[in-house]
Amino acid sequence: MTDLAVKKIVIVGGGTAGWMSAAALSSIMGNSVDVHLVESEAIGTVGVGEATIPQIQLFNKLLGFDENEFIRTTQATFKLGIEFVNWGKIGDSYIHPFGKFGVDMDGIRFHHHWLRSRAMGNTSPVGDYCLQVKAAYSQKFQRPENIPGSPISNIDYAFQFDAGLYAKFMRVHAEKSGCKRTEGRIVTANQDAQNGHVTSVVLEDGREIEGDFFIDCSGFFGLLISKALGNGYVDWTKWLPCDRAAAIPCKKVADALPYTRATAKEAGWQWRIPLQHRTGNGYVYCSKFIDDDAALNSLMDDIDGAPLADPKMIKFTTGHRTKFWDKNVLSLGLAAGFMEPLESTSIHMIQTGLSRLMTVFPDKTFNDADLHHYNAETLQEYESVRDFLVLHYSATQRDDTPFWRHCQQMDIPDTLKRKLEYYKQNARIHRANDELFTETSWFAVMNGQNIMPARYHPIANQLSKDTFMARMDELHSVISKSSDYMPGHEDYIAKHCKAQEETFS
Ligand SMILES: Cc1cc2nc3c(=O)[nH]c(=O)nc-3n(C[C@H](O)[C@H](O)[C@H](O)COP(=O)(O)OP(=O)(O)OC[C@H]3O[C@@H](n4cnc5c(N)ncnc54)[C@H](O)[C@@H]3O)c2cc1C
Repeated sequence: MTDLAVKKIVIVGGGTAGWMSAAALSSIMGNSVDVHLVESEAIGTVGVGEATIPQIQLFNKLLGFDENEFIRTTQATFKLGIEFVNWGKIGDSYIHPFGKFGVDMDGIRFHHHWLRSRAMGNTSPVGDYCLQVKAAYSQKFQRPENIPGSPISNIDYAFQFDAGLYAKFMRVHAEKSGCKRTEGRIVTANQDAQNGHVTSVVLEDGREIEGDFFIDCSGFFGLLISKALGNGYVDWTKWLPCDRAAAIPCKKVADALPYTRATAKEAGWQWRIPLQHRTGNGYVYCSKFIDDDAALNSLMDDIDGAPLADPKMIKFTTGHRTKFWDKNVLSLGLAAGFMEPLESTSIHMIQTGLSRLMTVFPDKTFNDADLHHYNAETLQEYESVRDFLVLHYSATQRDDTPFWRHCQQMDIPDTLKRKLEYYKQNARIHRANDELFTETSWFAVMNGQNIMPARYHPIANQLSKDTFMARMDELHSVISKSSDYMPGHEDYIAKHCKAQEETFS
């Protein structure tokens, strides 16, 4: 009988996607496959991608990383959510937190109760009922501690880290687990004349690296998935209009905040990601509404420390490959698609891609059913993330610049239209197919950007006014006390996971 097992995986590219794939596959698959990564230092990596979401903890656990070591080595800080400034109107700000607002009561989501309290005159923002929001604004952090009945036993968090150090951390792990690395620029791919499968990649010095299965992590180039196999690109610019970014790290001038900030600007938005050793900044903008020089000047005006490097200018098109997996080539990371970094979803989507790959790990037949399953699930994930991102732009009341007027007027996906209508009627949020963003996330952004539903769930009216307000007050006080109890973010880092001045020197 023919041995159909995949024996050799070739990963093309050594950015975050390449090294995450190498680390995961070499450690999970053990000796059953050879994992080989090819990268070109001369081409380099995109060099951004520093904010994450809590699911990254699963990846770290799966690979057995010691979290404190991971934080020290990547100069990471903790992240409790994202603060959105000036998105609804200039002067507005809200945090989209990890974790929940309040507690669900009487079988319905907390936000219905908060809406009732608001109708009764409560002026406390919903963030006052969320420990992550309260702690973020107070610059507090700790990992969950088992205190029964306390929100402290349930703190969701993620990390903000140095992208270059993260790829190196993954590389160390991957090479320890047996991954081999080749340095060199790939100039072409050989394909089987009959079925079109990629059989090898060829480097500019003539070396050839053969494989059974190829993972294209070549970034925006899409060397195999696009250039070799000819897959097209589904362009989502009409919904996600930003197409460029200028990025620059700057000196840290204050304690690192335990959250990422996204500030809406004249033609896009600016990120601020505080790390242990520096602060990452970038302006994501739409080139139709601002030119590169003006965007760069605007970025430089709004950074809070001295620049630590030359700015990086990046062009992109929001959207995805027509097929994420085609024949014996699976694309991950920027080679698969990109939807801009507003909600820090790209690294997560590398992780979910790998997890789906493990579920349908192929043999050499690369059968259609598996590929179809992978592509359909990935598309669903992309579309649900897309809708959430589009919401931030379309739900603006800003009309101070042509960019924001464009965002207000642009058409939005039908799936998002339905979600918005559903919410506007009854404050209900439909989370389809176990999508990444929860009711809390959707509520945080819709409410944060001033979308007010006509009604809330009638069950929220069950309790008498006095009992209800006493419950809300109690919750408010528990959250405040819990935040007071937590140590400062910098103190917590200093105690548990302070990085050395230089890591990976
Ligand atoms: C402006 C911006 C901000 C972002 N911010 C975030 C964020 O906060 N959070 C988040 O989750 N994600 C973010 N992302 C996305 C994140 O940066 C990427 O998902 C992640 O870095 C993975 O990139 P990659 O490995 O796919 O590509 P790259 O880093 O571009 O790596 C590509 C690799 O392929 C190699 N390569 C290319 N061509 C060849 C060749 N011919 N021969 C050999 N090797 C080759 C390169 O040398 C490199 O090693 C951001 C992206 C952008 C553009």
